[in-house]
Amino acid sequence: MELKITCIPGDGIGPEIVAQAKRVLDAVAEKYGHSMQYTDILMGGASIDVHGVPLTDEAVETAKSADAVLMGSIGGDTTTSPWYKLPPNLRPEAGLLGIRKALNLFANLRPAVLYEELAGACPLKTEISEKGFDMLIMRELTGGLYFGERKTVTENGLRKAIDTLTYDESEIRRIAVKGFDIARKRKKKVTSVDKANVLDSSRLWRAVVEEVAKDYPDVTLEHMLVDNCAMQLVKDPAQFDVILTENMFGDILSDEASMVTGSIGMLASASLNDTKFGLYEPSHGSAPDIAGKDLANPIATILSASMMLRYSFDLDKEADAIDAAVKQVLTDGYRTGDIMSAGCEQVGCQKMGDLIVERIK
Ligand code: NAD
Repeated sequence: MELKITCIPGDGIGPEIVAQAKRVLDAVAEKYGHSMQYTDILMGGASIDVHGVPLTDEAVETAKSADAVLMGSIGGDTTTSPWYKLPPNLRPEAGLLGIRKALNLFANLRPAVLYEELAGACPLKTEISEKGFDMLIMRELTGGLYFGERKTVTENGLRKAIDTLTYDESEIRRIAVKGFDIARKRKKKVTSVDKANVLDSSRLWRAVVEEVAKDYPDVTLEHMLVDNCAMQLVKDPAQFDVILTENMFGDILSDEASMVTGSIGMLASASLNDTKFGLYEPSHGSAPDIAGKDLANPIATILSASMMLRYSFDLDKEADAIDAAVKQVLTDGYRTGDIMSAGCEQVGCQKMGDLIVERIK
């Protein structure tokens, strides 16, 4: 298979971690007989330095012409970098918002996995963490409270603020379909999270999710109220497979889920549109404090590349090979500084890439 991938190395540690992810993809391509064609584009601070803007139309067109986009991270030190003296629409993050919009990415996927080798980093009690967990939060990204009408008015001398939470059934249906499709590639369970005891938007959410579920009789559907879900994530995270939820609930729950893994350098993510196209990136930022020092953990980006193979190209066997190589490196006792623990061998970004590539070949 020929895979056309646009890469956004970005800023800070971005170029270092994307370089390692490309090496891992190349190793998979060689082993399984695929060919990878990469085109790099500039975004964020790197684009500001060259073009004066965080994202150019040409860069967007290049991304659109690919089958998928693999990104490192963008942004600099927000207190010292000159990029943050620019108006908000010209700062690095505006590039990310711009590309998400231009590519119509409405489904955000954030896996939260606790590897038994890293259980010590999990802030939960041992009797909970020893069971491990492997969940994926699927968050609707372009609707709901963050995109509804809002205003602040003064009535009878009192300031009053109004935000509107709106979803129509097509917005709910397209993310539900993605959620069930992805559950089919996993443990075949969807937990749809809402606040249907209070909100009309949640009652519609629940009704549409149930309609979609009829097309997936092999996938188990359960509903959970968002407040209960927030508790269950720390009480019994092993119960979850795919958590399907709207924008604001997903924003909060995905951060909670990533915190319980305890390892920021391990967390992949993807944003998808209604085709197979997606943008894949680590959940962490550009870590300017360690940039250029060969200290970054490339695993979140490497696991994002694995998600790209699985969800944009349906290359599940190849994605499994990457996931297994990452797990093997951890079992063999290698760690970057961020996940280092006693008795393990500390390695840099490049060496971690070498070790994963070796285990794929
Ligand atoms: P950050 O995630 O970059 O860093 C937080 C801490 O985690 C730092 O100590 C950093 O060294 C460490 N860290 C992060 N990733 C690591 C990795 N792969 N390996 C080892 N250690 C790692 O968050 P921040 O410091 O708040 O933000 C830095 C910049 O990144 C800001 O400009 C911010 O806006 C940007 N940012 C970008 C994205 C994105 O590109 N999607 C996301 C979040 C933050």
